[in-house]
Amino acid sequence: MNIILLGPPGAGKGTQAERLVAERGMVQLSTGDMLRAAVAAQSGVGKRAKAIIGRGDLVSDEVVIEIISDRLDQPDAKAGVILDGFPRTVAQAEALDKLLSDKGMSLDAVIQLDVDDEALVGRILKRAADTGGARTDDNEETLRKRLGVYHEQTAPIIPYYQGRGALKSIDGMADMDAVSSEISAILDGGAA
Ligand code: AMP
Repeated sequence: MNIILLGPPGAGKGTQAERLVAERGMVQLSTGDMLRAAVAAQSGVGKRAKAIIGRGDLVSDEVVIEIISDRLDQPDAKAGVILDGFPRTVAQAEALDKLLSDKGMSLDAVIQLDVDDEALVGRILKRAADTGGARTDDNEETLRKRLGVYHEQTAPIIPYYQGRGALKSIDGMADMDAVSSEISAILDGGAA
């Protein structure tokens, strides 16, 4: 089973993905984590991505599509993947359709975590405090930029998936366990 977790920064995608990894043996594919690893390794991609991530803009579609394509080819992806932070543009969503079909893989659910922007600011600032400021983009100014980018560039993928009946929307403001239960119900073919 391959799924997308969709939602703005701080919506809880990473937390929910980690739970699915622990409970179902799925593999979390976070383009944000992969890009941060590239930055830390000072690879060519990392050097180009560093400033873009720091100011809260999106790395080019071409770069992230290639990263995801390579990652989907690794054997562990056969266990089922949770796409976390990808796709983030309609062009990425279209490319993902093609990648999955070329690789003989399915897309089984697109789960949107519906959250309130102002609550996100509080959550992210808490994450910044909890992690000792590990992420340079977890500050209020960059977060507001990332939220703007989400609404402008990523939200248009919601109707893209809605149009084909693939989208399940859940209340991301509920507590973590309730969100996990809703996700499980969707994955197990229950309620949406
Ligand atoms: P995240 O950890 O998902 O919040 O991603 C952190 C940053 O990495 C984003 O603000 C973007 O700069 C970059 N990034 C992550 N995923 C993508 C993507 N699918 N497309 C473009 N940029 C991305």
